[in-house]
Amino acid sequence: MDYPFLSKAKIVDTLKQRNANIRKSLGQNFLIDPNYITKIVEAILSNIPHHSRILEIGPGLGALTFHLKDYYDLVLVEIDRVYCEILKEHFPKQRIYQMDFLEFVQQYSLNDFDSIIGNLPYYITTDIIINTVKSIKKPGICIFLVQKEYAEKLLEDNNSISIYLNNFSKISKLFFVPKNAFFPIPKVESMLIKLEVYQKTKCNPELLEKILRMSFRAKRKKIINSWQKGEELIPISLLKEKAEIISFDFTKRAEEIPKESFYQLANLIFKN
Ligand code: SAM
Repeated sequence: MDYPFLSKAKIVDTLKQRNANIRKSLGQNFLIDPNYITKIVEAILSNIPHHSRILEIGPGLGALTFHLKDYYDLVLVEIDRVYCEILKEHFPKQRIYQMDFLEFVQQYSLNDFDSIIGNLPYYITTDIIINTVKSIKKPGICIFLVQKEYAEKLLEDNNSISIYLNNFSKISKLFFVPKNAFFPIPKVESMLIKLEVYQKTKCNPELLEKILRMSFRAKRKKIINSWQKGEELIPISLLKEKAEIISFDFTKRAEEIPKESFYQLANLIFKN
């Protein structure tokens, strides 16, 4: 049998029979282009060893699940009840959790999985990725389809989310996916990305988060002005003292500082 949900008509009919609709608020844009589905599946198959235990976030109608289920021990977490019912009918052997992924990470350990994958709902991408890398305590590979602009931001060096996530993992771009590969067609283009989660973070994540919050809160201002602008999550005197040791120039703007300097600063303060 081929994957059945490759046309708008088939998806709309299936949902109609269940008195359901596509919920834009849940980021429901389904992959319907068979070439791109194959390309994504091949990327997963070539990056993640076969027979690994994988968690798929937001399987929807199962565009990826359908092709991956025979290669992996695949567990699904999908928030929408209707899709969970459809998935149960098509993939009776698969373990499916009908719940919000953000609750899933609170209740279950991601260390039970070797890899995490998903065509992510874009309204919640950052929360999903942050919660994933924070919860994984062993090296592993995550492959996510995300908004193209978001992927580009993660690949840059000079913004707080990229500096934060690069502390946990090496992020790389796999390939571009055009918006017409989906139904409904989203407003934005997409990019498949890979995160190789490190065994150990480069520095303490909580401390790094505080430094980044303080350093990036005043846009286009010198870091020292940004530090002085709001709550002292870390004492400014301590920040200045440690920054001077490593020539972290706080008279520059945060975007001008290489990410490794933020990790170094966090490490010096941690040892304090
Ligand atoms: N994987 C399918 C595909 O590629 O065609 C669907 C991807 S669609 C972009 C995102 C899916 O994530 C939807 O099925 C949606 O219901 C589900 N979803 C949205 N928010 C979620 C959450 N917080 N936790 C788990 N699943 C979620």
